[in-house]
Formats: sequence, structure tokens, C-alpha cells
Amino acid sequence: MTRLTSRLAVLALAAVAAFSTSTAVAQGLTAIRAGRLVDVAKGEVRRDQLILIKGERIESVQPGSARIPAGARVIDLSRYTVVPGLIDCHAHLIGDITGPPLAPLERTGAQEAFSGVRNARATLLAGFTTVRDIGTYRAFVDAALRDAINDGTVIGPRMSVAGAYVTVSSGAGEVTGMAPDVVLPPDFRFGVANSASEIRQRVRALLNGGADFIKILATGAVLTRGTKPGVSEYTQDEIKAAVDQAAQYGTFVAAHAHGAEGIKNAVRAGVRSIEHGSLMDDEAIALMKERGTYLVADIYNGDYIATVGREQKWPEEYLRKNDETTEAQRQGFRKAVAAGVKIAYGTDSGVYPHGLNAKQLPYMVRYGMTPMAAIQSATIVAAELMGWEDRVGSIGAGKYADIIAAEGDAMADLAAFSRVSFVMKAGTVYKAP
Ligand SMILES: [Zn+2]
Repeated sequence: MTRLTSRLAVLALAAVAAFSTSTAVAQGLTAIRAGRLVDVAKGEVRRDQLILIKGERIESVQPGSARIPAGARVIDLSRYTVVPGLIDCHAHLIGDITGPPLAPLERTGAQEAFSGVRNARATLLAGFTTVRDIGTYRAFVDAALRDAINDGTVIGPRMSVAGAYVTVSSGAGEVTGMAPDVVLPPDFRFGVANSASEIRQRVRALLNGGADFIKILATGAVLTRGTKPGVSEYTQDEIKAAVDQAAQYGTFVAAHAHGAEGIKNAVRAGVRSIEHGSLMDDEAIALMKERGTYLVADIYNGDYIATVGREQKWPEEYLRKNDETTEAQRQGFRKAVAAGVKIAYGTDSGVYPHGLNAKQLPYMVRYGMTPMAAIQSATIVAAELMGWEDRVGSIGAGKYADIIAAEGDAMADLAAFSRVSFVMKAGTVYKAP
């Protein structure tokens, strides 16, 4: 492997590599020697394995004693723990959510796109090779970023995108706080819908416009002025209208829901995942277990908001609502783990700086998961939630060669994944020891 002496050089190599994925390097054979390989499908760690990669895909995983084909590039990760590229199911690569309430109005769509380029690179280099990007105030900037990554213009994770927020007017997915006679441009309000028929219309417009799935705001939010996390903003029938319409397109709905009633409305309506789930009660947990609904609970960022948000003087209303939901969410999370609810990794990246996505892994262990279950939630379970388990989320023949590594026995302390040394996406190396 090429030894790189500076981070800049790594980025330069990544830039070159990203533009040449179809050239000789990526098409040739690569062999990775893995000291510890985490098999997330079997839930076990195997010592001394050999991963063979051809072009963008994994060809085989064999014992370390297997023969390395002549001419293969060899990457020695024998001192590392090797895992599938991580997946964040609740990322916001577009938009600065952390500013004052009207901050989105101070930036052009082009500025949002370029900061998305920066955020995408930080996310990939942190070991997250796939994200489910779960909403932007300016419609379809996420889809543009996804397409630019896919065609090699921009370095970043694979993206599945929501396109915009489906929200009631003045609700959790709106920019609120302007004078009442200020009218926002249409791209800020693309997903606003106030009845079942309007919801179906907006869902069609989003999916026809390039969104991969639908994000609906079932309750109020922590970081939207005026809205109340415990208050339901859509009825079960309204959410079901979104679910039914999305199903016609072969896709699904992710529901932002803090309050217990909103969570239950969304689960009964048939959404695929509950985002946040902060104030869930025992009935909500039982319903999620029964229906197979995924929980995507961002149990790290409450600490970030409480400390950095307070230092940076975020609105008092945001800090109060954060305090009211953080601990409740963590206790609910612990119960959901014990009940066997499917849990997919999601952090609300963008609330905290991009690239710190792995910070949540140790929190998930602290609140009841085994280290293996936490890694599975950020790989194979996340891939299943997205419907992408045929291509990502595990290291096996036929999957994309999305592979990362952290030094030593990283499963002993998942904080190690906040310092990944190696990142490969589709056979291209973006970060090397
Ligand atoms: Zn979010």
C-alpha cells in the first residue's frame, strides 16, 4: 500500500481515485489482510482473514492462509479490526441545522450545495460509506449531492435521500419565525401538506422529482421554533396516505416522531422507521416490536446540544426541549433494546459537526446493546432498513467493497471507531494508515 505522509496527500489521492474508479487500479485485484474481521451476518469476529476484491466488489473472504493471486495489490490490515463501511440512517448532509432559527434564509442554494460537498467528504473519511439523508429545508439539494457523488464529481458516501420534509404548515419541517407577511420561496416549502390528499400529492412530487424515500414529520421537533415534540402534527390516516403512496413507488416512509401518540400513529400507519422516538411508552415499544418497525434513535447528540449548544447560546427554547427529551429517549432506547425492537444506527448528523458520526456507538453500548449489536445496527441492520442489504452492510462475496478499519481490538471499546485509519468505498481507498 502507498504510505502517505500527510492528510492532504490522502485527500489528493482520494480526489484522483474518485475520478478514476473505472481505471486499472480499481479494476485490478486487491487483497486485504484483516487481523480481526467482524462478520456482522454471523455476529462473530474472526482472526487472520483474507478479503479479495475485484474492481468495486468483494470477490471472496477466506482464511489468511489462502493464496494471494499474482499481481494483486496487498493491503496489510493485520494490526486492525476490519468492519463493513458504517451506515448512518439519520444524516443531514445539506443545511446548517445548528444556527439560529432563520439561518437557512441567510444562505443560497449554491452555498448549501457546497457545504454539502464538505460534509460528504468528512462523513466518508470518518468511515461512513453510506447515509440515509433524511431531509433538507431546500428541496432536492440532497438529490443533487447524491448524483454528484454517484458520477464521481464529489467524494462522499452513497446516499439515499428524502428530497425535502413532508410537514404541516408551521410544523416541525418548516422554517418558522419570520414576520407573518414574509413568503418563503417554493423550494423551502416543497413538502408542506395539510391533508391526506395534499400529502399524496407532495409524496408523488417528491418521488417523481428524484427522492428515494419519504420523510414525514409526525410530531413537533426540538430544533424548530414553536413546535412541541410531544404534540402530534399528523393523524394516523394522514401518515397512512404517505405510506400507501410511497408503497406504489416501491419505497417507504420514515417518520420523525417524539411524542408517544405520534409514534403509535406512525407505527400503526405502517412507516418503516421511527426517527428519534424520544417519548415512547411501553405500548409504543410493543407495537414497534410487533410490526417490525425500525427505531432510529439519535442518543448521542443530546449531550452535544446541552454543552456546545449552551456555550454557543442556541435559542433557550431549543435547549429546554433538548433537556426534556434526551434522558427520556435514552431510557426508552434501553427498553426497546431489551424488547428486541430492530434498531438501526442514526445520529442526526448536522446537529453536531459532520465526521463525528461514530460518537454514538459507545452510547448504544452504555444503553443496553452489546458491542456486536451496536456495530450490526450501523451495518447490516441499517442496510436492511434501507433495502440495500444486497449491496452494502456486510463483507461478503458480491457486496460493494465498502470496508473500514480501526487500530487494535476495536470491538473492546467502540470509541476506536471515532479514529478509523482506513476507508475504502467501492474498492477505492480514501484513507490509509
Ligand atoms: Zn433529523
